[in-house]
Amino acid sequence: MGIVVQKYGGSSLADADAIKRVARRIVDVKKSGHDVVVAVSAMGDTTDDLLDLANGVSPLPPAREMDMLLTAGERISMALVAMAISDLGYTARSFTGSQAGVITDSVHGKAKIIDVTPGRITQAIGEGHIVIVAGFQGVSADTKEITTLGRGGTDTTAVALAAALEADVCEIYTDVDGVFTADPRIVPTARKLAGVSYEEMLELAACGSKILHLRCVEYGRRYGIPIHVRSSFSQLQGTWVMSDPGLDGPEEETMEQPIIAGVAHDVSEAKITVVGVPDKVGEAARIFEALADAQINLDMIVQNISAAATSLTDISFTLPRTDGQTAMTALARIQAEVGYDKLLYDDKIGKVSLIGAGMRSHPGITSKFFGALASAGVNIGMISTSEIRISVIVDESSVGDAVRATHTAFDLDADEVEAVVYGGTGR
Ligand code: ASP
Ligand code: MG
Repeated sequence: MGIVVQKYGGSSLADADAIKRVARRIVDVKKSGHDVVVAVSAMGDTTDDLLDLANGVSPLPPAREMDMLLTAGERISMALVAMAISDLGYTARSFTGSQAGVITDSVHGKAKIIDVTPGRITQAIGEGHIVIVAGFQGVSADTKEITTLGRGGTDTTAVALAAALEADVCEIYTDVDGVFTADPRIVPTARKLAGVSYEEMLELAACGSKILHLRCVEYGRRYGIPIHVRSSFSQLQGTWVMSDPGLDGPEEETMEQPIIAGVAHDVSEAKITVVGVPDKVGEAARIFEALADAQINLDMIVQNISAAATSLTDISFTLPRTDGQTAMTALARIQAEVGYDKLLYDDKIGKVSLIGAGMRSHPGITSKFFGALASAGVNIGMISTSEIRISVIVDESSVGDAVRATHTAFDLDADEVEAVVYGGTGR
């Protein structure tokens, strides 16, 4: 009997009753003869509440102390889940990330896992215990400080544990039934995907789908861990994220590989335009060097052909809204040197992305996508593509219409509403 690794999100652990329900689910797996290792998130909105509290105390809390504070959320739920399990007559041992051997780099707030040394976990399993691990946290190899993995990081804890323990599967329990063709809050007729490939899931996660932490999918792909995303509020099969869900998906369902996996959207980006850049060698390099020095991750970049009369061009790019101020300051500093005219900032934008591995071999996807946007009266601001994705920037206010029109144009709508959002405040 193998090891089963499970992850429960905050909405599955919202209160005492929810915790008892989760404990029963965990014990059922143990009863069926498996060893169980569980990664838990903080209860309900705890992480947001702790963030609010910190900001109430200090406008700029030190990153080290922020991690100390936030990791407390997962520590609360791990102990409570272990207590609820012991109440059912089974023994559980809870461990912090550091105790569980989750070793990270030293970047507070968005640390990367570099190794997992699960000695205490395997020992506890050997003694017959169920193991509960606090998600979203680790300890830095060089500074020995406590770190966090970034919002939603418990998914990554779970998959990293599954890889280290050579588990057959990692089950991610959440408050929806799986990965949908679009966010059910915007498209009520979104359909649940039976399977999706790692590469499609990576694009979905990078384009705004919040169902899985991006790094958890990267980890799953690197170590070949199938990830089963499902609801803790139902017994339904969820979505299998694996290398080739069309061919080696679980037996019960035949999954024909659709051309399009889904439509994702993201309203967390802003757009900056550098107006009137002299069209000569080295100007773009200088601009992007300044942004790189400010540690800013860019997404889309567009440079226009310069106007013949003036030899001036405009460069636009998108970036996380949270980095908007830093980027504007960094660019203002090099205005004289670059000799551009002015900067424009727009954070009323949204990104809509169409994702599917079948795009590679099917012509006409782009024209259908843009045609759907046109019929919905949505204007396209910027375009970028990868092999299996087309993204457009539109006005923030037209994101909903754009997503719905695209979803319908590609025949993704379900006949009846399938998507149930069981918990969570969506906060
Ligand atoms: N509690 C953390 C968060 O809210 C980590 C997680 O839930 O995965 O982001
Ligand atoms: Mg999550």
